[in-house]
Amino acid sequence: MEQKFLLKKAREVRRGICRMVNRAQQGHIGGALSETDYLVALYYHIMKVDPARPDWKDRDRFILSKGHCVEPLYYILADKGFFPREMLDTFSLPGSPLIGHTNREVPGIEMNTGALGHGLSGACGMALAAQKDQADWKVFCLLGDGELAEGSVWEAAMFAGHYHLDRLYLAIDRNRLQISGPTEELMSQEPLAQRFQSFGFDVAECDGNDSAAIIAALEASFHRPGKPHLLILNTLKGKGVSFMEGQTSWHHGRITQEELERALYDLREEED
Ligand SMILES: [Mg+2]
Repeated sequence: MEQKFLLKKAREVRRGICRMVNRAQQGHIGGALSETDYLVALYYHIMKVDPARPDWKDRDRFILSKGHCVEPLYYILADKGFFPREMLDTFSLPGSPLIGHTNREVPGIEMNTGALGHGLSGACGMALAAQKDQADWKVFCLLGDGELAEGSVWEAAMFAGHYHLDRLYLAIDRNRLQISGPTEELMSQEPLAQRFQSFGFDVAECDGNDSAAIIAALEASFHRPGKPHLLILNTLKGKGVSFMEGQTSWHHGRITQEELERALYDLREEED
C-alpha cells in the first residue's frame, strides 16, 4: 500500500471526525485523532472484511475497546460501504444508531464497548474460538492507555497468555494522556512492554501515527506464532490539529465553527 494513499486517507478521516464532532457538538476527539492511523492501516490494508457481508464467518474481527473514540471507525465503515455515508451526519443525534460509543446495531461493529476494560476479554473469546476451529482469521483489539488501569484488562491478558492466543493482535493507543491528565502521574503504566511480556505476549512498538510503520509492524508479527501479540502505538492525542495536539482538555469536547475551520485548514489536502 502506497504511503501517499495512507497519509491522504488519514487526513480525510480526521476531517470527517472534526465535522462529525462539530455537527453533534460533542465527541471524544483527542483520542479519535490519535488512533486514526491505526484504523486506516487495519481497514485499508491489513484486515479481511467484506462490507456486503458484515457477518461473513471468515472475516477478521476488530474490537474498539476504547469505545468512546468511535468517530473514525464509523467514518471508515461508511467509507468502505458498510452503511450509507449520509448516516454520518446523524452521529450522536437522537434516534441515530451512530451513538457516541460502539454499537452492534451498526453493520461492521463487532462488540458494544465503552464501559472500559471489557474489549480485550471479548477479543480473547473470539481468538480462542478461532484457535479451536483452526481458522485463519485474526482478532484485532485497540485499548486506550488510560484503560490499562482497569483490572479486567490484566485478567484478559493472563487468559491470552495461558491459551497462547496467537490469533489475537492487541494494540495500545499510547498517547500518554487520559481524561484527567498524564497516565504516568495518574496510574503509571511503565515498563509497559515488559509487563505484557511477563503475561506471555509477543511485544512490538512503533510510531502509532504512521500507518505504513503500523502495517510493517503488524505484518512482521504475523510471522511470530505461538503467543498473543501486542503492538504499542506511540501516538499524540489530538494528532493533526495543531491546537488539540498533546492537550488533555481535548479528551472530550465540542468544536465551534471557527475551530472547525482552523482544524480543516490543518488537515487540508497537500499539494503533490
Ligand atoms: Mg490515552
